Amino acid sequence: MNVAYFRYGAVAQPKHTHNFEGGEVVKNIPATCEADGEKTMRCASSTCMDVQVTVLPKLGHKYSEWKVTKEATVTETGLEERVCDNCKKAETREIEKLKEEEPVIPCEHVYIETGRTDATCETDGSKTEVCDLCGDEKTTAIPKLGHTWQEIEIDDETKTICSVCGKEKTE
Ligand SMILES: [Zn+2]
Ligand SMILES: [Zn+2]
Ligand SMILES: [Zn+2]
Ligand SMILES: [Zn+2]
Repeated sequence: MNVAYFRYGAVAQPKHTHNFEGGEVVKNIPATCEADGEKTMRCASSTCMDVQVTVLPKLGHKYSEWKVTKEATVTETGLEERVCDNCKKAETREIEKLKEEEPVIPCEHVYIETGRTDATCETDGSKTEVCDLCGDEKTTAIPKLGHTWQEIEIDDETKTICSVCGKEKTE
């Protein structure tokens, strides 16, 4: 008779190799998508009270593809949903609002003159301007002025002469 048997009571058994696989299932909580499971087996030996606890790791959701349940618009966010194949838990997420087409705001040009060719009596001039805001460049023709005829008396002769350029009218 083993002395230790008496000293430690029922807990102290002669050493043996546990046989949990062949033993009784004390507890069996299957793992779910979100929670670990637990399986507790008692040793098959009729005199052994030891149990083995095995943690069954949680499975994690097996989601389907995202499915749009509400289309996003320019003013409202949409919704899409996916469902777990195992537990049917649904997960939803927002779909961003659709981007509004940026309206093209026409430039209220502020032109600054950058170049000028003055018009003369007989030739058109032009001026070049650049918009201070958008850099748009435009060239505007300045119509020729036309002569400013004046009749003047020179040596008892009446001549018609342009007061601007001094050209004499010949006809
Ligand atoms: Zn055992
Ligand atoms: Zn799930
Ligand atoms: Zn502009
Ligand atoms: Zn002239």
